[in-house]
Amino acid sequence: MSNVIINRAETSKIESVDFENLTFGNTFTDHMLVCDFRNGQWEQPVIQPYAPFLIDPSAKIFHYGQAIFEGMKAYKDEHDDVWLFRPDQNYDRFNKSAVRLAMPEIPEEVFIDGLKQLIQIEKEWVKKGNGNSLYIRPFMIAIGSGVIAAPSTQYRFMIILSPAKSYYSGEVKVIIAEHFSRAANGGIGAAKAAGNYSAQFYPTKLANEAGFQQIIWTDDATHTKLEEAGTMNVFFRINDTLYTAPTSERILDGVTRKSLIELAARENIKVEERSVLVAELVEAAENGTLKEIFGAGTAAVVNPIVGFSFQDKYHELPKIENSFALELKSKLTGIQRKELEDTF
Ligand code: PMP
Repeated sequence: MSNVIINRAETSKIESVDFENLTFGNTFTDHMLVCDFRNGQWEQPVIQPYAPFLIDPSAKIFHYGQAIFEGMKAYKDEHDDVWLFRPDQNYDRFNKSAVRLAMPEIPEEVFIDGLKQLIQIEKEWVKKGNGNSLYIRPFMIAIGSGVIAAPSTQYRFMIILSPAKSYYSGEVKVIIAEHFSRAANGGIGAAKAAGNYSAQFYPTKLANEAGFQQIIWTDDATHTKLEEAGTMNVFFRINDTLYTAPTSERILDGVTRKSLIELAARENIKVEERSVLVAELVEAAENGTLKEIFGAGTAAVVNPIVGFSFQDKYHELPKIENSFALELKSKLTGIQRKELEDTF
């Protein structure tokens, strides 16, 4: 796209970054993309040095939480080419989130073409090799001022980039939600809205204090159906079939989830998109047919879970040889790094 204004940073921080010891989401590249929406239209996007900026204290983002974001990754192959993994899916989801939060949709030339230009400028920040990636965080906030609970008329869209190593969170034990909910029918669970995440912090803090790393969210109405794990979609392997909840108003339509479903089918692993009941999971754990549980999302790709607690009873998962989670993770990351062909 030709109409991006580029103001380059005078110096680069890259030499001061220890790429072997990155903590996820804490280091940012030299530049960011900024594009404002004013007077009913998107202005010219600008790529400029990464830096803080001023916003009016009465801006709607601070009071009404009008904010959405995306999370995606770029990878570098052996030939030093940089690849995005299915960015069109993040672009579509971003605009769906925008509509749900009464925010303006972003044009493709700002989101996709702007992102490609930004990554081109920052390509030294994308490292080769298994587990290395550049995490991409596009987001939009309401910058219009006024403490009146109504949608803003001014917005800022931005993209920031953060180099990442492979994400390992240690052993993940989960607790099944019996009271708190992540989302409700008619709510914003299917949008990647900032408020969905802040609403999870308190129940997750309680779960952490009880010795669990994440919560498996259940449906808000009955708390009987298993829906998501922390900030990931979730898969259950009972015998040799994988189950994952169908997407709904309460569930984020994950790019990793969709890719794993397609990949599993290609690998002749049976997958069923249907709600798994808590009772079914407990029964499968007790009769030994529950083999694996794993979260699926951009940050970790696949995140194996070692056990779950429900009604104060902890069920440990068996250690197995032929893990579907690890097989699918290795295939999907191979595709993302262009080592394996993306045939689906
Ligand atoms: N569910 C929630 C609530 C999430 O925040 C994420 C992370 N974006 C996911 C699922 C996984 O989505 P994706 O595979 O697109 O990263």
